[in-house]
This record gives sequence, C-alpha cells and structure tokens, in this order.
Amino acid sequence: MKASIILVGTELLSGGTVDTNSIFMAEELNKYGIEIKYKLTVKDTIEDIMIALEFARKNSDLIITSGGVGPTIDDITKDAVAKFLGKRIIVDEEDFKVMKQKFDERKLKYTPNNIKQVEKPEGAVSIENQVGMCPAVYVDDIVSFPGVPSEVYDMFPRFLKWYAEEKKLLIDEIYIKDLLVYGLGESYLDQQISELFTEEGIDYEFLVKDFGIIIRLQGKNSNKNIVEKISEKIYNIIGDNIFGEGNDRLENLVITKLKEKKLSLSVAESCTGGLLAGKIVSVSGASEVFKEGLVTYSNEAKMEKLGVKEETLKKYGAVSEETALEMVKGLKTDVGVSVTGIAGPLGGTKEKPVGLVYFGLKVKDNFKVEKRILVGPRNKIRERATLQGLFYLNKMLKGNA
Ligand code: AMP
Ligand code: MG
Repeated sequence: MKASIILVGTELLSGGTVDTNSIFMAEELNKYGIEIKYKLTVKDTIEDIMIALEFARKNSDLIITSGGVGPTIDDITKDAVAKFLGKRIIVDEEDFKVMKQKFDERKLKYTPNNIKQVEKPEGAVSIENQVGMCPAVYVDDIVSFPGVPSEVYDMFPRFLKWYAEEKKLLIDEIYIKDLLVYGLGESYLDQQISELFTEEGIDYEFLVKDFGIIIRLQGKNSNKNIVEKISEKIYNIIGDNIFGEGNDRLENLVITKLKEKKLSLSVAESCTGGLLAGKIVSVSGASEVFKEGLVTYSNEAKMEKLGVKEETLKKYGAVSEETALEMVKGLKTDVGVSVTGIAGPLGGTKEKPVGLVYFGLKVKDNFKVEKRILVGPRNKIRERATLQGLFYLNKMLKGNA
C-alpha cells in the first residue's frame, strides 16, 4: 500500500516553519508497512492543493494532508478536498457540539469563524481531536489533519489503526528494532555491521540524533527472529557502546538505575554550566534521587564549594584529571559526576586543546576519571560533554550492579 502526504502551509515553503509532522507520520506508517510514495508541500491556495491532490491520487492509495484546517481565511484544505471530490461542504453537528463544549470548558471566546473547524466534505468520517478543536476528517481515501504537531500526534495513530481495520489490511507489520549507540561514528558502525545483513528484506539504517546514533533494524514481522539474531550479533561486536533500545535515553536510564539502587546523585559542572543538571531534571521523578547540581565555573568556586586544593589548580590547572577528581570528591553524595573542560573557541593550547574535557565519576567508594577530546563549536562541545558524562555514568552504574 502506498500513501502520499500533502503538507499545506505557505510558511512551510517560506522557511517560517520546519515540517516535522511528516516525520512523525512516516514513523507511524512504517509500522503498518505503508510506503510513502511522495511528500508534497504546497501553499495555502485551492489551486495548489488541487494540483497536489491530483498528483497524489494518481500515485498512491491513501492521501494524507496536514495543515490548513483551522478557522482563519487561509484555512482551505477541506474546501479543496471537497472540490476535488465533487462533494459539498457541510457542518458536522456532533463535532460542533463537542467543540462548543470545549470552548465553554476552557473558557475561550467563541467567534463565528470557528465553525469552519467542524466543517467537512459530505460523507466524511471525523476522528476526535483530544488536544485541540478541529477533528481530522476522512473521506474517499483522503484524510485531513491540522498542522499543529501535538494534534497530529494525538490523532494520527488512532486514525491509522481505524483505517487498517476498515480496509482489512493484511498487514505483515514491519518489525523495527532501534539500537541506541553513543561514541561511535556512522562510517565505523557501517564497517562493523554491514556484513551481517545477507537476508533479503532485512535492512538497517543509521539515524543521527542529538543523543547518539540509532541503528534501526527492520524487516517484516514474520522475520522478527532473524532481526533479533542480527541484533544479538551487533551487541557482541559493539555492545559497549549500545546504551539502550527504542525510546531509552541516557538520562532516563541513569535515573531509573539510581532509583533501583536507592542512590543519591549530585553533579559539579564547569564547562557544561548546568546543562548536565538540566538533563537530569528533565526526567520526571528525578527528585527521588537528584540532590544538587553545582556550577563551579571559577577556581574560587571549585575551592570554596568543592574543596579543590589551590595547589592542584596551580600545578595541574582547572582542566585536568586531578581537578576533575577533586571536584567529584567534593560532592556529598552516593553517586557523582564532575565535568571540567575547554569549550572554546578561546583558551586552547597545544597540550590542552579546545574540546578537552575531564569527567570525574563516583559510585559509592569507587572513583574514576575519564578524558575525551570533543569537537565542534562551543555549545556543541558543551552538549556533547553533557551526554558523554551521562554515558560514563550509565556505564559505571551498570558495572556496579
Ligand atoms: P494550520 O493547521 O495550517 O493552521 O497550522 C497550525 C500550526 O501548525 C502553525 O503554527 C503551523 O506553522 C504549524 N504547522 C503546520 N504544518 C506543519 C508541519 N508539517 N510540521 C510542523 N508544524 C506545522
Ligand atoms: Mg496554515
């Protein structure tokens, strides 16, 4: 089965908004083995939408539109769909009641143009919008969603489930396994794993994310066992760098482990300036284990707050193995991380280049210092140091099971 996505919105072409909806949709369609044939981005005009509909109709079984279904004058996607199908536009009375109720409950001011949000081509089925006002509407293999991403996330999976049942799709659903890797590059990974893929219909791809690289293995559900076997082999080769699977993220894994072990966590940061504490606090329930985060940027702060010796700073410098160790030793906690490095672009020397970062790690009575040279502009180095710190911590917590 083939689908095409039509993204409606002048702002998507002018650069005002980045299309993220189609990425989400692609992931969901993947799960049902529905291939995306085309993505078309068009302005908010009836003519342009009609051209896209005609093209998509010729080339796909299902057409998905996103955007242009709101209450304002430029919201005309549903009018274009109705025109394309030769149908009238009607108001769905049931949807209208639901919308009015939401306006009352949320104490919003209703204006007459809001009625557009519950208009639809005659005969269309509505998909309830649990986030916003405007339901998605489906008729004759064309479904129209709003542009607001949170509303798409809410309705799209429910629509697809319904559609698959409606069409009695005999889905040999795609089986996807995501292995999350940190600290290895794409080209190296490719070299390590490419020869494991000899079976027809079982593929892999790399998705580079800010938290690492996803190795996505995929095949038909009926080939799940083969995918799992390949995954095991990958673990045997690069298991040290695989920190999780699927929706795992380093910060979540670390917090979960600390909760299991009932250990407290504190961090002492220099070059990351609070980013590490921020990542930790982004995890709901972090308060159960996270005690404090100190941003000890100056030498004075390192001495005053953490008890780093003046001598150490003088002899080895603020960015050194010795300082990182004394920083983490100064934390009164079960588990600690310290980060001290040169984020640049100034301050690098031949011995201590920009990107050099030391990490002090403590799990109960075990201490360790790690060193990395990270690349990128200042704030990339800071972000990378944050992830690297979490990666080391996760590894150390695994080792101290
Ligand atoms: P609309 O439904 O066209 O009124 O769009 C509502 C909001 O969603 C606007 O802020 C758009 O910029 C945004 N939006 C529209 N299409 C997309 C898309 N494909 N990806 C992400 N955001 C979008
Ligand atoms: Mg719009």
